[in-house]
Amino acid sequence: MTATRWLAEYAWLPDHAEPTPDVLIEAEDGRITAVTPLVGTDTPAAGVEVLRDAVRLPGLTLPGLANAHSHAFHRALRGRTHGGRGDFWSWRDVMYTVAARLDPDSYLALARAAYAEMALAGITCVGEFHYLHHGPDGTPYADPNAMSAALVEAAAHAGIRITLLDTAYLTAGVDGAPLAGPQRRFGDGDALRWAERVSAFTPGDDHARVGAAIHSVRAVPAEQLATVAGWADRQGRPLHVHLSEQPAENDACRAVHGCTPTRLLADHGVLGRHTTAVHATHPTSADLTLLGDSRTGICLCPTTERDLADGIGPARRMAEAGSPLSLGSDSHAVVDLFEEARAVELDERLRTRRRGHFTTAELVTAATAAGHAALGWGDAGRLSVGDRADLVTVRLDSARTAGVPPVGAFFAATAADVTHVVVDGRTVVADGRHLTVDVPTELRAAIKEVTRS
Ligand SMILES: [Zn+2]
Repeated sequence: MTATRWLAEYAWLPDHAEPTPDVLIEAEDGRITAVTPLVGTDTPAAGVEVLRDAVRLPGLTLPGLANAHSHAFHRALRGRTHGGRGDFWSWRDVMYTVAARLDPDSYLALARAAYAEMALAGITCVGEFHYLHHGPDGTPYADPNAMSAALVEAAAHAGIRITLLDTAYLTAGVDGAPLAGPQRRFGDGDALRWAERVSAFTPGDDHARVGAAIHSVRAVPAEQLATVAGWADRQGRPLHVHLSEQPAENDACRAVHGCTPTRLLADHGVLGRHTTAVHATHPTSADLTLLGDSRTGICLCPTTERDLADGIGPARRMAEAGSPLSLGSDSHAVVDLFEEARAVELDERLRTRRRGHFTTAELVTAATAAGHAALGWGDAGRLSVGDRADLVTVRLDSARTAGVPPVGAFFAATAADVTHVVVDGRTVVADGRHLTVDVPTELRAAIKEVTRS
């Protein structure tokens, strides 16, 4: 049994519009057991002794951040696709060349470094949207879940939790064209064989859970959507799906099925409160109603959407329709949940030429509790008794945050301002350093391995 206590200079408590000063947070066996604001209340019964052995957290302490949408291997593409022209589809060709080179060993090394970078940024749980299942020509590894196991192990090394969103990826287009070239390693043949493989993967580790994903309406035939959705529903697992990231997907879906991708998913039982649609950048008004009425979550990935010239999703309308919003770094062009969160507000400002669409508290919820819930960890993302003891402390004395009031720090800070990270009661980052992974060195080596020509 391990008991720990921290004294936060400021802490963002649930249902508060701004941070609370001088908060004592206590935990036992990875769970928060007490949250006590010291200002205006009596010092706890144990008095000064309690405070003497508390770990001091100068700055603003937030709940753990959740990165609800990740493709770990995309980290190798950072800085390699930005110089030229092109669009999502030309970027995808570059992405496929890295995908073709990975094996379980090199993916473990790359994902471990990428997840450790996330830990440094205050991310305590990642949703890995995973479709690199088999060998490069589509032949399964001796263990058909070897790549999944590598990702789960990578998260353990990095000290964060993972929801492995095992992704069904069966066809190359809405028209049912077969997978070809680098896509062959994504496929299981059909949804039943996908389900059989996923069912056999049962990581026993406390830090890992398995969920399901439908890559997109491009990659799973309409008549097999219900098989994937049914598996997730029966197992009580989260289900994620890329949705309407590109207008071309909407056009292709209309041409083949006579409806939008959202309508197609609704008609095959994919939407619901355990489902998260990723992007949803180009929905119709009717799509927003279908998503909101079914309480389907939406994961926005603004830094990726801007990097890939996708467009701006209607975030405020999504929230008002009833969809909980979460955030993901997706392609990892940027790993900074502060930037993702403020982009939700700032992109709305660009579109509408008006300010003030989301409160800071709403953005904090998207980056924390809503993200963890979307990944199946409903007991994380709040500094409240009974929740997992995830703490993320942001310094208020950096060049970026000095002089900023604590309530404004969420809008001013970057990932580089995170100094202390606790995951399930264990310290993973202290004084801005990862305790077990030399992140820059490991990133450099792992990326060199998969990009050498
Ligand atoms: Zn994605």
